[in-house]
Amino acid sequence: MSKTWRPATQLVHEGTLRSQYGETSEAIYLTQGFVYENSAAAEARFKGETDGFIYARYGSPTNDMFEKRMIALEGAEDARATASGMAAVAAAILCQVKAGDHIVAARALFGSCRYVVETLAPKYGVECTLIDGRDLANWEAAIRPNTKVMFLESPTNPTLEVVDIAGVAKLANQIGAKVVVDNVFATPLFQKPLELGAHVVVYSATKHIYGQGRCLGGVILSDKQWIDENLHDYFRHTGPAMSPFNAWTLLKGLETLPLRVRQQTESAARIADFLAGEQKVAKVIYPGRKDHPQADIIAKQMTGGSTLICIELKGGKDAAFALQDALEIIKISNNLGDAKSLITHPATTTHKNLTDEARAELGISGGTLRLSCGIEDTDDLVDDLTRALAAVSA
Ligand SMILES: *Cc1c(COP(=O)(O)O)cnc(C)c1O
Repeated sequence: MSKTWRPATQLVHEGTLRSQYGETSEAIYLTQGFVYENSAAAEARFKGETDGFIYARYGSPTNDMFEKRMIALEGAEDARATASGMAAVAAAILCQVKAGDHIVAARALFGSCRYVVETLAPKYGVECTLIDGRDLANWEAAIRPNTKVMFLESPTNPTLEVVDIAGVAKLANQIGAKVVVDNVFATPLFQKPLELGAHVVVYSATKHIYGQGRCLGGVILSDKQWIDENLHDYFRHTGPAMSPFNAWTLLKGLETLPLRVRQQTESAARIADFLAGEQKVAKVIYPGRKDHPQADIIAKQMTGGSTLICIELKGGKDAAFALQDALEIIKISNNLGDAKSLITHPATTTHKNLTDEARAELGISGGTLRLSCGIEDTDDLVDDLTRALAAVSA
């Protein structure tokens, strides 16, 4: 609606389509199809001569509102809402490659994302090189004349490493490759990959965008030309569309995104500092702390810290399990970005499918825990962790 609105205002009002009833809260349009006034109207709609919806797999009003709100927040030109974050990642990558093409990806990826580039794409004749994405020299060395996609996540799961997005985009532009950024951990509030030169941004809306743990969703954002030339037909004919019901819940989630993420980030910053001073903690990795190994890149490309903290305990797996089991408020769960604080032991859950060697490369040890801070009172979370650390043998 207005380009001058700031994010908190966009997230409450942008993209709203009101019906003849003038409802305050966005309506849910649970319909598979749409009817036409007459044959000529149907013909014109199918020819693309008139605006309007054709079939819910292609687009529908509630999804359209969600997409418009995300477009405004991200500063993109167009978007497609998908059934899950993985539907978004798979579509964003597969829609633009063909047999004989090459993908370069940072190896520190969400497990299923790594499957898409490392295992799935090669089945269709698309080769993939996985690298340590922290060093730009590795991206440069991995590029080939047939490299079409460069894929990364920053900060990464679970060790919160970062990748220099502008640096990767510069390399990609030299050979006409497209940079796809999975921006889940940074949230759309703290990092703008498109402004940094990336070509496509994907989210699991399941995480902070909804943030209340009820439904899955995803979204792909880019410029109009990329969507028209790559995603448009793929999306229509392979069917990863989001359910209108989920779009309706996600629209509500977007209204409170800045409030939740601000509270979660303030909490995380305090908890990270608290944990860093604890005897039984070997290391705390937090993008808001000065001792983050890549603080210079964070200062260049992020405008906020993170709602997540990576913790390494001195006592290994036994200590990590003891801490998790002694927590009362913080729940053991592999989700993140939720209103509830959640903790997970990556080596035995989210990253259990990796080889020991691959886990070691990513810095995941038996003592590694990933904490996703919720919106509870920070003092209660610190109390919970204090109590649980006391249960860990020294
Ligand atoms: C959760 C997550 C995904 C996958 O999203 P789903 O909604 O679970 O399909 C992809 N990337 C990252 C970084 C995630 O955290």
